[in-house]
Amino acid sequence: MKIIAIGRNYAEHAKELNNPVPAVPVIFMKPDTAVLKDNKPFYHPEFSSDIHHEIELVLKICKEGKHIAEKFASRYYEEIALGVDFTARDIQQKHKEKGLPWELAKAFDNSAPVSEFLPKTKFQDLENLHFRLDVNGTTVQTGNTRDLLFSFERIIAFVSQYITLKKGDLIFTGTPAGVGKVNIGDHLAGYLEEDKLLDFYIR
Ligand code: MG
Repeated sequence: MKIIAIGRNYAEHAKELNNPVPAVPVIFMKPDTAVLKDNKPFYHPEFSSDIHHEIELVLKICKEGKHIAEKFASRYYEEIALGVDFTARDIQQKHKEKGLPWELAKAFDNSAPVSEFLPKTKFQDLENLHFRLDVNGTTVQTGNTRDLLFSFERIIAFVSQYITLKKGDLIFTGTPAGVGKVNIGDHLAGYLEEDKLLDFYIR
């Protein structure tokens, strides 16, 4: 199982980090050891002093595919979850300045908390899905799939040109604006429409 993540998929988030809005999807990966389930606490690593939350919608791939046409891409996921793409922003910034890969900033252990998955059929309009992250009771990030630069189907079609998607793979679809530092003791709660799916602490 692998995790593929999309960077800069909401224009307002690209702007807040002074990045250009991309013409093609920016992708990176996390290993299976990044997954953190069941709302277990996230233990703040010592190698970073600036771990950021990035709330994202997560797709679970339901069958193997490569070179998937965009018009058929919706057949390749049946469930959606909420996830956090934890990012060591201090490390990422250094690596970006040097043009180096992002793995140390993105792929570390437990850097990908994922909620339970909900069937996509539960939602009336996947192109108008609202989600948000609250930290200590204050809403810090809100997103809506209508603002995606690259749709779920476009992402699946694009990625599968390069990398075979397999059943159980996860796709983190990008974060909206409002990313910020987490601190030990913080309580994170993530909502997909009305459902509170993420509910965990930074330890
Ligand atoms: Mg992200």
